[in-house]
Amino acid sequence: MSVNKEKYREIREELGISVQLVAVSKTKPVEDIVALYDQGQRDFGENYVQELVDKQSQLPMDIRWHFIGHLQSNKVKYIAPFVYLIHGVDSLKLLREIDKQGGRNSRVINCLLQVHIAREDTKFGFDAKELDDLMMEGIWSGSVGMEAGGKAGNSLKNVKILGLMGMASFTDDPAKVREELKGLKTLFDKYFQPSAILSMGMSGDYKIAIEEGSSLVRIGSLLFGGRG
Ligand SMILES: *Cc1c(COP(=O)(O)O)cnc(C)c1O
Repeated sequence: MSVNKEKYREIREELGISVQLVAVSKTKPVEDIVALYDQGQRDFGENYVQELVDKQSQLPMDIRWHFIGHLQSNKVKYIAPFVYLIHGVDSLKLLREIDKQGGRNSRVINCLLQVHIAREDTKFGFDAKELDDLMMEGIWSGSVGMEAGGKAGNSLKNVKILGLMGMASFTDDPAKVREELKGLKTLFDKYFQPSAILSMGMSGDYKIAIEEGSSLVRIGSLLFGGRG
């Protein structure tokens, strides 16, 4: 078992009460999750639908499961009954499917819109213009923290957009990372109240992310060790 409890306590202290920690347990065994659960951790993040479903069925019911990977519309139904927050909503089609599956499960599913901030083409998400179009359409229902937009008569009743998520480029250049995260914060401030969720920061850049206004960090390898 490679869970670093000392690091966990250190990070918790560093984040204080204003920044949430999602422990990213993808590819790690349930024993590792239990080890952090026993330390008091309740928010865990997974990237793969099947893996998440398997783990959820074996672990305590009070875990809040965050889906942080790229979600295909045809897989939403598997996680819709229990998922706490879907971070990577990157299309209106996906949002509509989450709404539909939320309805089937008689629940409102929390979502974050993913914004494409990295230079790399490999990362998913809306660009600033697409985000603007989406926010102005007002297709969400009673989403917390709406600053702008949001016409009456929302059509999506079973999703709630709690904020934004983004990933900076994988680069050794901290200035570049900071610039990308700063851009995301600017978009966030445009559309959401400070109490909404801004999910940015991973093992390699969470310190910068906090400085730039993150309210939720997704940390895997620092807690669970590398993924090989
Ligand atoms: C894997 C992953 C993380 C955690 O990455 P680490 O570098 O191990 O902290 C965070 N966010 C997303 C979207 C991921 O896929």
